[in-house]
Amino acid sequence: MTQEELFKALVAHCKEYGFIFPSSEIYDGLAAVYDYGQLGAGLKNNIKKYWWDAMTRLNENIVGIDSCIFMHPKVWVASGHVAAFNDPLIDNKDSKKRYRADVLIEDYIAKLQDKVEKEVEKGRKKFGDSFDEEEYRKTNPNVMRAKAKADEVHNRYLEAETNNDLKEMRQIIVDCGIVDPVSGTKNWTDVRQFNLMFSTQTSNTGEAADKIYLRPETAQGIFVEYLNVQKTGRMKIPFGIAQIGKAFRNEIVARQFIFRMREFEQMEMEFFIKPGTEMEWFKTWKSNRMNWHLNLGMGAENYRFHDHEKLAHYANAATDIEFNFPFGFKELEGIHSRTDFDLGNHQKLSGKKIQYFDPETGESYTPYCVETSIGVDRMVLAVLSHSYHVEQLEGGESRVVLSIPAPLAPIKVAVLPLLKKDGLPELAQKVVDELKFDFDYQYDEKDSIGKRYRRQDAIGTPFCVTVDHDSLEDNSVTIRDRDTMAQERVPIAELRDIIDKKVNLNNLLRKL
Ligand code: ATP
Repeated sequence: MTQEELFKALVAHCKEYGFIFPSSEIYDGLAAVYDYGQLGAGLKNNIKKYWWDAMTRLNENIVGIDSCIFMHPKVWVASGHVAAFNDPLIDNKDSKKRYRADVLIEDYIAKLQDKVEKEVEKGRKKFGDSFDEEEYRKTNPNVMRAKAKADEVHNRYLEAETNNDLKEMRQIIVDCGIVDPVSGTKNWTDVRQFNLMFSTQTSNTGEAADKIYLRPETAQGIFVEYLNVQKTGRMKIPFGIAQIGKAFRNEIVARQFIFRMREFEQMEMEFFIKPGTEMEWFKTWKSNRMNWHLNLGMGAENYRFHDHEKLAHYANAATDIEFNFPFGFKELEGIHSRTDFDLGNHQKLSGKKIQYFDPETGESYTPYCVETSIGVDRMVLAVLSHSYHVEQLEGGESRVVLSIPAPLAPIKVAVLPLLKKDGLPELAQKVVDELKFDFDYQYDEKDSIGKRYRRQDAIGTPFCVTVDHDSLEDNSVTIRDRDTMAQERVPIAELRDIIDKKVNLNNLLRKL
């Protein structure tokens, strides 16, 4: 299966098994909006709990809040979103499709960089042990040509972006001969800026002044509550405020399933610090957040940092944690050193003093801040795409298995009576009564045991417990492991501990 086919199969699987549905599907759906079904909601909640507990329980100086989606319109003036939360868009006149101009250019550069790597690989194969990669990169004409072109376009693009030069952006697209993947033509419109915030109105007077926005990030809710939390929580710098909540962006190009949605969820933490200490804290949070990811055991090779060369006007350091999605390495989480940009601007615009008084030194200052920001939905996609496998079994059979990290699995255990008679369902029900207070479970008595195992594999249930005739005599059951498919006979009384050891979220947190 190619990565593209795998991704398609995953999207279909998510729908078939109740993880993720297109929103309003009976009306043919709504672009870039998705609903989580019964299992998707379970997985999402577990991811949120892993993040929330890691932030607020493992750090004494981080507290969590829940602020509103609607905020005073001035918030988005202070944050810079009204003036600058734009994407450059361009339309193809033939296909009538809309694209982000920056993405078209970035994809073109990525293709050239890909070409460089392929040429280097060719060289490696050709020269074998005597291959000198450094020399090859410096001297091979194909490599040099592709790299020089990539660098040239990259530099032109950076300059156009810095100067907000939309004409030049279009010119780059024209000069590079970039064609619309749908129509195959170069018939492009001008590039225009498009603000990504959704807006609506309050019912007061219906005038323009009543325009309010659906928040495009949760972070501003933290900044405007900084003073309240600091005072009421008696927080001392350094300290953090965490929040999980919905955010909305009118994305121009919303593709790739739940990777880029118009309504999505974020987990953000703002860590308030003394000015001058931000680089140290930036390093600490980079490492903390990478550990949180690696702790799930989804393979260190699937993550990488991508440090930003060009920084947003408010940041003095920024990096992305990228994950190896089926469509390549893409941003999963952002870590930004945001200086005092947000608190400083809210102070200016609101006229309220937003400062921290340091009781030890007697000085007052506007705190600096390091932010960690991750999309819940992108994390769901990372987990699902990494977990989805089609495995060939002995005897020509195959199984689809979701090897979701066990503490995140939506269903932890399935209880299965071998037959629907002879008192087996009754005993199975007793097993359920033992386990239901600790674990999300499914009870299933339909179809052959083999089919039931496959159904549980397909939704990522770490354990199946089968109750058979011997169970009536010896109070033991067979427990089957999702990943190894190994089966073991164990007393019912020990089930809880055996399952708990593998699926308890606290065990994951303990390893952090
Ligand atoms: P991108 O460059 O992919 O648009 P971004 O840099 O605009 O992302 P941030 O503003 O840093 O993203 O948002 C923080 C996190 O929120 C991202 O790392 C991502 O996980 C998530 N996120 C942002 N936009 C979306 C979206 N449209 N759909 C789903 N998740 C999103």
